[in-house]
Amino acid sequence: MITKKGINASPGVAIGPVLVLDTEEYRIPHRTIEASQLAGQIRNLDAALEASRQEVGELRAAAARKLGDKTAVIFEFHEQFIADPKLRESVAELINERHWTAAYAFGQVMNGRQRMFRNVADPYLKERVRDLFDIERRVLRHILGRAREDMTRLTEPVIIVANDITPSQAISFDKNHILAFAMNVGGQTSHMAIIARMLGIPAVVALNDITSDVTGGETAIVDGTHGIVVANPDAETVERYQEQQERYRRYSAELQTLRDAPAVTLDGTEVDLLANIEVPEEASAAMQAGADGIGLYRTELLFLSSPRTPTEEQQYEAFCGVARGARGRPVIIRTIDLGADKLAPSMGTHREHNPVLGLRSLRYCLLHLDLFKTHLRAILRASTEGDVRIMFPMISTVMELRQARATLADVMEDLDEEGIPFRRDVPVGMMVETPAAAMLSAAFAKEVAFLSIGTNDLTQYTLAVDRANERVAHLYASHSPAVLKLIRQVVRAAQRSDVEVSLCGEMAGAPLYCQVLIGLGLRLLSMAPGDIVAVKRVLRSTTVAKCERIARTVLRFDSDRQVLNYLRDQHRETVKEDEA
Ligand code: PEP
Ligand code: MG
Repeated sequence: MITKKGINASPGVAIGPVLVLDTEEYRIPHRTIEASQLAGQIRNLDAALEASRQEVGELRAAAARKLGDKTAVIFEFHEQFIADPKLRESVAELINERHWTAAYAFGQVMNGRQRMFRNVADPYLKERVRDLFDIERRVLRHILGRAREDMTRLTEPVIIVANDITPSQAISFDKNHILAFAMNVGGQTSHMAIIARMLGIPAVVALNDITSDVTGGETAIVDGTHGIVVANPDAETVERYQEQQERYRRYSAELQTLRDAPAVTLDGTEVDLLANIEVPEEASAAMQAGADGIGLYRTELLFLSSPRTPTEEQQYEAFCGVARGARGRPVIIRTIDLGADKLAPSMGTHREHNPVLGLRSLRYCLLHLDLFKTHLRAILRASTEGDVRIMFPMISTVMELRQARATLADVMEDLDEEGIPFRRDVPVGMMVETPAAAMLSAAFAKEVAFLSIGTNDLTQYTLAVDRANERVAHLYASHSPAVLKLIRQVVRAAQRSDVEVSLCGEMAGAPLYCQVLIGLGLRLLSMAPGDIVAVKRVLRSTTVAKCERIARTVLRFDSDRQVLNYLRDQHRETVKEDEA
């Protein structure tokens, strides 16, 4: 039995068989084969090793020609590793003795080697772990060839274990068969975590090398509420977690009774609880979950999940779907927020050193005006289908906002000329997710209809902590007094200019933060649909006066720890119990 602690990314408990995904999304099932198939598997292995060795040899020669012998040395290591007879022997032994497939046996041997390299003191060898991943991928590609299994058609419920998966992968999986996710890397607000919450699937991230600790096929427990994964649990542990699973089920069912109850504090203040969605189909489900509208539609998923840029028509259909699904309630469509960890196939292969600070989001759109205009046309055309609003992400200067608005005006003019109807007075707002935008919020508030605070990025940029990097995840804290002060500044600026202000980062859906956010003056919160009832429960158990007292107190603290401890105490006192 192995117990690992990671970061809780999506709540709930799952118990089931593990499926390990290779970094390229190969699904390598733990499957045994008949004795008659063994020779075929060995032939497959030999052919794959030979093809890989040849490939690497060619790469080495090309590297030596273009970049000199120093670079070619890296490929020499690959070549020697692949050609090593001991490697072939170890894999063949597993095939013959355990009747494993070549792919599975090779994966197991590589897991062992990676673990070995990781544990040596020699920094040179430690660094080679990455090369081993590369080698593994190359050889597996040859072994599996066309036999790569399709993740969209799983046949039994599994716990997905992987180094990392992209948001588009997560969305393409057959979610009816996914019990949970357990990832090597990631943080609480990484996009993979956001998608897991959206799907309502328990997830733990930042598990370091969970992919080397499991082999696939064995039973594991994923406790997404507390960030724990247990592989090969004993009977007693399984029983304990089954009880926890049951408690969580009861807790969730009880919360569901609040679905149609108003989101109002004990002293009668109403709060709008909106939904963050990633795919159009979610809009009507969000309304059923009790949402007052769509506070954030992340349109980039549309671009991530298809190999080609979606056409204007495809985008228009998607946006209409959301507007209709929201049944007349507000729908805030955020213009594409591509880049950083959300790279669309159409964005090419260019890699940046600091993608989070790079050409992402609105910056990318302003440089790719054709793409941006098509996108805006589709949104504007869909604006007649409901209460559609437009929101620009990742703004740090007033000029960017003005450029975006000027582009929107151009598109409106084009539509006018073509006689295509759209809502002329469509409200235009922006996200506040950079410290610059927060500090200049008074100026921005004069130019927009609404502001929406994106604390996922605002925390990342304020604290200089990559939100998806597990190595600095302990420093990522949306409750940092620095972030809270920026939130207060934005809310005040919005109030003074009489523009609407909401908060749509993950913080909005965390019951723990609910009271301080209300105390800071927020009355619109946008969150994963599944979080709405839990937040509603806090609202219905507190008063604005109490929330304001809490906000005043935390703003006097100067450390994250103090804030967190205090918020935990206050939360416990308000809801009178811990969440399951
Ligand atoms: C945010 O940054 O808080 C936000 C809501 O946007 P995203 O998580 O999509 O970056
Ligand atoms: Mg953001």
